[in-house]
Amino acid sequence: MKVLVVNCGSSSVKYSLFDMQTEAKIAWGIVECIGLEESFYKRQTITVPQVKSACKVANHFEAIQMIITDLLDSKTGSIKDIKDIAVVGHRVVHGGYKFSKPVLVSEQVKKDLKECYSIAPLHTPHHYAGIEAIEKMLPGIPSVLVFDTAFHQTMPDYAYRYAIPSEYYGQDHVRKYGMHGTSHKYVAQIAAKMLNKDKNEVNLVTCHLGNGSSVTAIKNGKVIDTSMGFTPLAGLVMGTRCGDIDPAVIVHILSKYPKMTSDELNNLLNKQSGVAAVSGIKGGDMREVEDAMLKGDKKAELAFNMLCYSAKKFLCAYYGILNGVDGIVFTAGIGENSPLTREKVCEGLDNLGIKIDKSLNEPRSSKERFISTDDSKVKVMVIPTNEELMITKESIDVLNEKK
Ligand code: AMP
Repeated sequence: MKVLVVNCGSSSVKYSLFDMQTEAKIAWGIVECIGLEESFYKRQTITVPQVKSACKVANHFEAIQMIITDLLDSKTGSIKDIKDIAVVGHRVVHGGYKFSKPVLVSEQVKKDLKECYSIAPLHTPHHYAGIEAIEKMLPGIPSVLVFDTAFHQTMPDYAYRYAIPSEYYGQDHVRKYGMHGTSHKYVAQIAAKMLNKDKNEVNLVTCHLGNGSSVTAIKNGKVIDTSMGFTPLAGLVMGTRCGDIDPAVIVHILSKYPKMTSDELNNLLNKQSGVAAVSGIKGGDMREVEDAMLKGDKKAELAFNMLCYSAKKFLCAYYGILNGVDGIVFTAGIGENSPLTREKVCEGLDNLGIKIDKSLNEPRSSKERFISTDDSKVKVMVIPTNEELMITKESIDVLNEKK
């Protein structure tokens, strides 16, 4: 059985084809710069190394057409017939107020998704275009939508409501939704296995630290709070996002620069802030920030400290509301690859029973592993995330439920 995972961004389409017998990714690639003068198609398979070619791709439909044609290629393709694909799993960033779990695509589901456009206008229309393109290219093959927000839907109301007049919740659906849910869910399940606990009995704080970062509190396998909010702008200091700031700062900026548009303000907070703004390093790439810090760059050091401090604050708050945890998980680009960040986030928490073993923390590895000392009450783990594999599993589950 093969599962195709599709991730439509604003100007790109990423895909991965999984063989579910082995859970192996057998073909994957990306079409980038969709709608620009020159687009690019990078693809590879388990047997053919990466090929990159320039092309002209006007929209998401053309991108998906190119991908499917390529997957069916008689010489280099990975499938012989579209019927080899059991299901297509679509990554959807925001399920809004309509979706609390993965769903099989139907006309009603598409209508509901359209109603959520205003909550994630930069993402949802592109997901929609991808869903329609797949329907045309793969007639009769079921599609499942897997939402980044779904895993967080178990939060209690006192965690997800904002203390603003209730019409903004009732009419405008303004509340905390949380993001990176597929990643938090995946690592939580792996952590439960590593701790020999039932996935519905494990208590964890999961730290997804990447370009975008979020920390989640998990009680008995279910989310009870998470650091991102209505959008992915909230919570930790991130690569180019400011994370939590006093909302009055925004009011102040708008009154001081009345010509600033909402798009410009959005851009300022999402793309020109965070580690990038504090360190002066473009994109806030953590590798460059760490290199600069180790060479004595004070701005880079401040940015690093701010990111780690914000992660530590959420970690400790969630440890508190959970009344202690079985484990702490680090995942995503920074969480998986930066021993310095993990060490700094966990520094000085021995009174909470959190102790990192340097000799386990420092070596690089792409495998899941423990990095805490033997006598650490709380186990600290590094678990490489695999959102695509989680999407394939969730898609198959939805398909099986419908049978
Ligand atoms: P992601 O969004 O999960 O792809 O993570 C991207 C972030 O991970 C970027 O800030 C990268 O600089 C960071 N990253 C990747 N590898 C390393 C590394 N070896 N050390 C520190 N940061 C890293």
